[in-house]
Amino acid sequence: MAATRTFSIIKPDATRRNLTGAVTKMLEEAGLRVVASKRIRMSRDQAEGFYAVHKERPFFNDLCTFMTSGPVVVQVLEGEDAVTRNRTVMGATNPAQADEGTIRKAYAESIEANSVHGSDSDENAKIEIDFFFKPEEIVG
Ligand code: ADP
Ligand code: MG
Repeated sequence: MAATRTFSIIKPDATRRNLTGAVTKMLEEAGLRVVASKRIRMSRDQAEGFYAVHKERPFFNDLCTFMTSGPVVVQVLEGEDAVTRNRTVMGATNPAQADEGTIRKAYAESIEANSVHGSDSDENAKIEIDFFFKPEEIVG
């Protein structure tokens, strides 16, 4: 099967605790390759645009505040069945429900400050990659 791509964010709770390397190591050990990466401070506009699908949810405002509260690392990950592979190593949204061996089980602080984002479909992966990266910034 051919390699596919997904989009990942190492969230502010993880960068604050200096876990960028630890999280990336778990992604790599899960068979994903970082083919683009940059550390940014998201603007409010970027956070609201990125999470627009959640804008009617009660947690939307707090989520955008959290995502702009510190630096994040946005990444493009490549691997076989990358979207599913990444979702599996991330673990459940709520760390209380995350399986052993997942990033969120190991590091998430709460359902909001849950250390990582990962695209939920190939279609959304493409949209999210295009939201943060120019084609020439991705080197596979
Ligand atoms: P996932 O990141 O696992 O795909 P969602 O897409 O449902 O989860 O939600 C996006 C993000 O919104 C979550 O990763 C988390 O940071 C936050 N979030 C989700 N549900 C809640 C909630 N009930 N309360 C607070 N924050 C939440
Ligand atoms: Mg999601």
